[in-house]
Amino acid sequence: MCELGRAAETPYGIRVMAGEFADSYLATRGPQRGYVVVIWHGRHVAEPTDLAADEASGYWADVLRVGRAVQAHFGARKVNYETLGNAVPHLHTHVTARHAQGDVRPGAPLEHAWVEQPTEELRRDARALGELLGVGGPARGGRDPHRSPCHGPRANEGR
Ligand SMILES: [Zn+2]
Repeated sequence: MCELGRAAETPYGIRVMAGEFADSYLATRGPQRGYVVVIWHGRHVAEPTDLAADEASGYWADVLRVGRAVQAHFGARKVNYETLGNAVPHLHTHVTARHAQGDVRPGAPLEHAWVEQPTEELRRDARALGELLGVGGPARGGRDPHRSPCHGPRANEGR
């Protein structure tokens, strides 16, 4: 994920927040509507246990901020947080809305199914989340000149 830099948009998602510790993207493909990936930005880090105390506080605060926005915007019944990284060992957390109506797996963990999300709806959701989060979302527009200083091993495609 290091090599993706801090782009406003990647093949995988639309940025809804560029925080001090993490960048968050509403995913173009995911298990269902309301799926955001929070990606640690900085040096290459695989495990949250590799973070210093202040970095860890900052990272999890960004994750919770995204969780609140996901809960508010999607009216989520529950929000799931998954820090996996088995396929792509760069610290990131999947934040997913679980819906009271129409959830794909009510009462169970989500499968990692990569269903293309409808473009129009995705852009509307990204704008709304960006406004709720207020930092570096798509509402600000434009290309972000900042590059991640991360120089870890190259990650595989996908998540
Ligand atoms: Zn990395």
